[in-house]
Amino acid sequence: MALDPAGTDLYPPARLAEVRAGVAAAGLDALLLTPGPDLRYVTGYDAHESERLTCLVVPADGDPVLVVPRLELRGAHASPAGGLGIELVGWDETDDPFALVAAGLGAAAGRVGLSDRMWALMVLRFRAAMPGTEQVLASTVLRDLRARKSPAEVAALRAAGEAIDRVHAQVPGWLRPGRTERQVAADIAEAIVAEGHARADFTIVGSGPNGASPHHTAAERVLQAGDAVVVDIGGTMPSGYCSDCTRTYVIGEPSDEFAAYYRVLQAAQEAAFVAAGPGVMAETVDAAAREPITAAGYGEFFVHRTGHGIGLETHEDPYIVSGNTEVLRPGNAFSIEPGIYPGQDGARIEDIVVCTDDGCQRLNNITRDLIAVPG
Ligand code: ZN
Ligand code: ZN
Ligand code: ZN
Repeated sequence: MALDPAGTDLYPPARLAEVRAGVAAAGLDALLLTPGPDLRYVTGYDAHESERLTCLVVPADGDPVLVVPRLELRGAHASPAGGLGIELVGWDETDDPFALVAAGLGAAAGRVGLSDRMWALMVLRFRAAMPGTEQVLASTVLRDLRARKSPAEVAALRAAGEAIDRVHAQVPGWLRPGRTERQVAADIAEAIVAEGHARADFTIVGSGPNGASPHHTAAERVLQAGDAVVVDIGGTMPSGYCSDCTRTYVIGEPSDEFAAYYRVLQAAQEAAFVAAGPGVMAETVDAAAREPITAAGYGEFFVHRTGHGIGLETHEDPYIVSGNTEVLRPGNAFSIEPGIYPGQDGARIEDIVVCTDDGCQRLNNITRDLIAVPG
């Protein structure tokens, strides 16, 4: 079956009805979705974020309405949202769009769900326009839907994984003694787009001691022979779906200690992958990654959770972390990314995986062995 990566397979028109049913089931009167991943998930509309209110109102009873600034009306019509039979209501520069939404919902609205990433600017205006209405997070309704990826969404994530794998395949050619992290990051950002992403979202290049800071921003440090280099990179595809993959490279010969803890890390990443599957608690996967690292004496240097869900956002539910007893289900997509950061250097290995009916499948498939480039 051929999938249309940005079309109705990925953003099916039936999703709106599914979400409306969810609004009623959650005991909400409506969802209010402003531009961002929630609105895109429900309608396919990749609206740009702005101080002017764009808001999809999805009531439990009655028809959805998309309220948009008049200057965006044409774009909204042309977007996938325009094909869903949603009524579009334009507002003029001197109108109060918050009052417009409130009037549409009526005074009876007891609880509404707001996009998790709605700007405070709008949350507070809605609160003022609907003083008797309780505000809750839209994820009350959307969390489970968004966390269980459809086959089309899995295909979109697989395409993202293949694209970022192609970028990693080129990284050894850019890691040369004498170049700065920033120069390497610039090469990577360009390749992320060249390999099919709409944009590069992050390019972490952490060399030597900078590799011990998991979210290090590429800087002016000059690469040297003997450096371990953590390269954690990702972008957003035209489909809206994200990539995120880490490999650790070494320039020339690694130190004995680095080579030893890298082997531990590789075993930990594999152990977590083997542990993950349907019916398994998220925290069990985290424990599976942590156990071999702790046993080897590096437990204190694994300073973050094992992973995060991924989809229209790089970080979303489910989180693979101690304390999260939620059970993984087929369609969940998430990272498995243990790290060891002793200080003089650090290492991380990260793949995106998707939970299937009987286990997990990796969406990143380049080697996890330590990659040595000429020093
Ligand atoms: Zn991270
Ligand atoms: Zn990640
Ligand atoms: Zn990452």
